[in-house]
Amino acid sequence: MDKKVLRNLSYGVYVVTSKDKDKKVGCVANSIMQVTSNPSVLAVSINHDNYTNKVIKETSKFGVSILKETTDAKIIGTFGFKSSRDTDKFNNIKFKEISEIPILEDTCGYMVCKVIDTIETETHTIFLGEVIEADDYSNENAMTYKYYHEYLKGSSPKNAPTYEEVSVISSNKNIKTKKWKCPLCGYVYEGEKLPDDFVCPICGAGKENFELIIEE
Ligand code: FE
Repeated sequence: MDKKVLRNLSYGVYVVTSKDKDKKVGCVANSIMQVTSNPSVLAVSINHDNYTNKVIKETSKFGVSILKETTDAKIIGTFGFKSSRDTDKFNNIKFKEISEIPILEDTCGYMVCKVIDTIETETHTIFLGEVIEADDYSNENAMTYKYYHEYLKGSSPKNAPTYEEVSVISSNKNIKTKKWKCPLCGYVYEGEKLPDDFVCPICGAGKENFELIIEE
């Protein structure tokens, strides 16, 4: 079985949000698809370990903000690589509340959904959500996962359905192109060495955190 073929599936990059009483939560998701048009229903896959999963189960409501190519990459760093349990991810992020769900503004638009069913897998819950509110902010290109990977040099958070392991090595070996990986967000920098003043453009981690990697 060659699982690399799965890389040919297409995904977007989204922030899925909800609200637990006054606590706003959210995480990055790329496995979202529209499954019916009338009514409009989305399927959204969220890892069991994400705090957002627990809150959506409690409130039966979630929002999907559709990131665009020009969305500040720090939004992905904040929502993809930190936990809502101990971080206010909405601090310094522009958002508004629609039907009591926080919705990001630096995006192409959003949908707010009420949960009509769930499917449990070993690692993820698939929420089926009927769209109850939606708006289209602009005609800028939505960010695809391919764009995120190729142009922003990002990778999947560990909880994403599309996460792939890479092995980390600690000493210099004879590698044609060296790659340095941010252990927090998975951003990969290619080059002989990291510039002195380098910080991760996605999550802000310093260069001292980066690890030399070989892709399997
Ligand atoms: Fe990073």
